[in-house]
Amino acid sequence: MNVTSTPPASVEADLAALTFDNRFVAELPADPEAANFRRQVAACYSHVEPTPVAGPRLIGWSPEAAALLDLPADAGDGAALAQVFAGNRLLPGMQPFATCYGGHQFGNWAGQLGDGRAINLGEIVNKKGERWTLQLKGAGPTPYSRTADGLAVLRSSLREFLCSEAMFHLGVPTTRALSLTLTGEDVIRDILYDGHPAPEPGAVVCRVAPSFTRFGHFEILASRRDVDLLRQLLDFTIATDFPHLTAADAKTRYLNWFDDVTQRTADMIVHWMRVGFVHGVMNTDNMSVLGLTIDYGPYGWLEDYDPNWTPNTTDAATRRYRFGQQPAVAQWNLLQLANAIYPLIGDAEPLNAILGSYAIRYTEGSQAMTADKLGFAAYNGEADEELTTELFALLGEVETDMTLFFRNLALVDPQAPSAAPLEAAYYQPSQLTAAYHERLTAWLGRYAKRLQGDGRPDAARIAQMNRANPRYVLRNYLAQLAIDKAEAGDYAMVDELLDVMRHPYDEQPGRDQYAEKRPDWARQRPGCSMLSCSS
Ligand code: AMP
Ligand code: MG
Repeated sequence: MNVTSTPPASVEADLAALTFDNRFVAELPADPEAANFRRQVAACYSHVEPTPVAGPRLIGWSPEAAALLDLPADAGDGAALAQVFAGNRLLPGMQPFATCYGGHQFGNWAGQLGDGRAINLGEIVNKKGERWTLQLKGAGPTPYSRTADGLAVLRSSLREFLCSEAMFHLGVPTTRALSLTLTGEDVIRDILYDGHPAPEPGAVVCRVAPSFTRFGHFEILASRRDVDLLRQLLDFTIATDFPHLTAADAKTRYLNWFDDVTQRTADMIVHWMRVGFVHGVMNTDNMSVLGLTIDYGPYGWLEDYDPNWTPNTTDAATRRYRFGQQPAVAQWNLLQLANAIYPLIGDAEPLNAILGSYAIRYTEGSQAMTADKLGFAAYNGEADEELTTELFALLGEVETDMTLFFRNLALVDPQAPSAAPLEAAYYQPSQLTAAYHERLTAWLGRYAKRLQGDGRPDAARIAQMNRANPRYVLRNYLAQLAIDKAEAGDYAMVDELLDVMRHPYDEQPGRDQYAEKRPDWARQRPGCSMLSCSS
């Protein structure tokens, strides 16, 4: 973050120019209770103000997210922005509120959850006429905080800030992150849930999205049999987030909406599988109806390719949210959404048909994505199925860095295939037995023939592959290194990583260290290979 050049006066002018049009609070029913205490709420949201903090300090600022709001790319000295985006100062037009939602957590209905530590500030309409909701995460308790404190720690906030923007630049649908602000106050957390609570620096992320509506917003109303409010929320959601759905007949409109959510969800999961992202907590309350990746908690990036890997220690026993399971979990979550809106449709058959189409859409998306990763003109049915099945078997057999393997695969010459460009992807040379090498070489030979069959120029194929296979991803250990430094008061790596992740598909000379595979020290270190939900 450049912290010197903008005079504060211009930031003030930019903040003053923000135009709010708060449709969620204007059009949906509010909780009549104004006081901030934990409770069950039979409405869509509650008015609640952020809790002021002692020493806000801006340590991360996304120029691209700022541009969405017509805010400057350069945060200047950050002082005024820190006051606003830590929640100390409300701007004219802001109407802070927390929303009510429920959800299925790890397969079980959990009842009311809600924005326990998220406070929406309002909806901004930018100069292009786009609508963006601002949401602070970690800005203090709300009526939905249940037994928790409404706060967030630096380590999890830094991870959310960087990953939101990294995912955006990777082309993965996601909520955005505008800012990362220290609160100047400590928060107590027991990171490994093993009886060692300790103070950690607190922080607030300002998230940005067209809306933060989740599957769970509909589930909570259905669970309470509040069909009128359910209809009102769905009509509102379609009008604001899905204005292209204009069928005159309500049942058709609702089905078209579910169809759209299904497609977006399938698209999002295809992207996760493409880049090796594991969300870690795919509960229905963490599923956006816009098909945006939302709620960055104990997520992780696949390093060695292992479909059974989950970064979330809370999920270690059953691995419900493991990498390879994500497509199926998304479908299960869509089933919960279908159940939630069923009272508005009263006809299971068309909902089932859409649910059934999820597998087809996911498979189609996944095949097109695989063709891009492998550099095929198009995915070629059964022949490619065999080739890719063998590839993934090979990847799983020895510890292979997914990102490096696919990126370097573009360097294999179809005229003279060799495993040499792939060497950097292997974690344990001792695993590369003669038998493995033979199998890999055989696969490369078939792969090269397959490429030759397409008869395309190398440059076009390589460009296609390099658009699908990032060189840089936010490796778990890189985020942890930035956390270690930030906790010691050095924030430079936040900026540096944000900058690296702005061009994940480009070669960035001098930045090879950010593309390297996980070092050995990170193999078992908390924060690198395993994350808890403590945040
Ligand atoms: P998550 O697993 O982070 O998606 O959170 C599940 C639910 O717990 C949501 O309703 C969150 O708002 C709530 N929650 C998580 N952490 C906190 C916290 N520190 N304070 C209040 N609510 C929280
Ligand atoms: Mg959540």
